Amino acid sequence: MNKRIALIAHDNLKSGMVQWCKDHKSKLKACELFATGTTGSRISGEVGLPVTCFKSGPLGGDQQIGAGISEGRIDVVIFFWDPLAPHPHDVDVKALLRIAAVYNIPMACNLATANLIVDGL
Ligand code: PGA
Repeated sequence: MNKRIALIAHDNLKSGMVQWCKDHKSKLKACELFATGTTGSRISGEVGLPVTCFKSGPLGGDQQIGAGISEGRIDVVIFFWDPLAPHPHDVDVKALLRIAAVYNIPMACNLATANLIVDGL
C-alpha cells in the first residue's frame, strides 16, 4: 500500500518544505499526501503534487492530523517544526508529537530525519 504522509511546516520553514518536496517529488508522487492548510496549498501550487489539505495548523490542522493517526489514516509525519519561534498552537504541536509516539508512527521533526525517512520509503 502507498504510504499516507502528512506534511507540516511552520512559517519560517515552508520554503524549505517546498524545496524538500521538489527534491523528492518522484518518491512523493507515489504516496498519498496530506498537509495543514497553508503548507498544503504551497506544495500543491509550487510543486504540483496533489495534497489533501486540512485546516491551517493554528486553526486545528495539527489536531486533524493527530486524529488521522489515531484512526489509522496516516502512516508518516514530516514536520518542519520551528524551534526558534513561539506558536499560539504549541499545545497542539505537543499533542501531535505524543499521538505519533503512542501509535509508533515515523515522524521527522527536521530535515535530516525527513531525508532518512524518505530514503526508507
Ligand atoms: P499551516 O499550519 O500549514 O496552515 O501554516 C502549520 C502549522 O503552523 O502548524
